Amino acid sequence: MNVYKLSVKTQGYYLIEKDSYEQRTARRPPWYKVSDNGEPRYFAICPACNNPVQLIGLYKLPANLHHPYGKHYGKSIPGVGLYDQNAYEWCPYSNKKQNNNDGKPKRSQSMLSQQILSLLVMHFDKVIWLLSHSTGVNIDEALAKSMLLQYRREEGWLYSRATLMNIPWVFAYMTDNQGILFKKMRDVKLADELVARSPEYLEQTAQHYLVKSKNCQSYIELGVYYTKHQSEVVDDRLHESMDMVFTRKVGYAAVEEIYRKSVLFDFNYFNNLVNFSDWKSSPKNEQLLQLAQEVLGDLIR
Ligand SMILES: [Zn+2]
Repeated sequence: MNVYKLSVKTQGYYLIEKDSYEQRTARRPPWYKVSDNGEPRYFAICPACNNPVQLIGLYKLPANLHHPYGKHYGKSIPGVGLYDQNAYEWCPYSNKKQNNNDGKPKRSQSMLSQQILSLLVMHFDKVIWLLSHSTGVNIDEALAKSMLLQYRREEGWLYSRATLMNIPWVFAYMTDNQGILFKKMRDVKLADELVARSPEYLEQTAQHYLVKSKNCQSYIELGVYYTKHQSEVVDDRLHESMDMVFTRKVGYAAVEEIYRKSVLFDFNYFNNLVNFSDWKSSPKNEQLLQLAQEVLGDLIR
């Protein structure tokens, strides 16, 4: 991996780079340690799964390497962090990563799943803001509430591929099919595309709300769900994405897929938002935070 953090309690992480690592650790234990045979070792925490990692090539790059990287250590390190085998096996940075991309496998309750849940509740306003931008569909309070309720029913925080880095996207991923008719579209091109694929049923208003076409006499539903969550590490950089699928239901007919796009997870964006000290609160944001607390708060231990 090309990123690290130093506290299991926080979400924020940094690029692996010698000078800033030295500054943040002051070259002191528990981060700097000497092995039994006198080799210096440098430790940190995996920002995805909270397991201890060792930084390789920080001072001397092994042959064939162009930059230092972090690798899971496989054991607890006093003062750094506890080892969690299950979290490691499902970590997108792990070499042992499970390849089965079907279904939504779950882990049992753990420190990691609890942390994911509490970060989601604590930053729910930012999660909704980011998802609205990332997917192109504006999430209003009613939609946010419906998503929270479904996430609770699906126990989304226990999804095995949930990490501390992908919280917003996995939240959406674990909310099944949600109705988006009469929602405002942030991505106007996406709105055009959906209307073009359903001209007899859909139109958009001047403010880019997707509504039922005036000429349409039938009952219609326009929905969205997410599938095919996948991850890949290339040159130590993590790439993660999922498919966003738009569905249409007309009267009693079966649901049809009308459009599909890929949503890339912008980890940095979320990292910056969570750690952005100038984030302004607003009545709308306060309401979102309260809503998350109401629906999920009792699950946080
Ligand atoms: Zn990890």
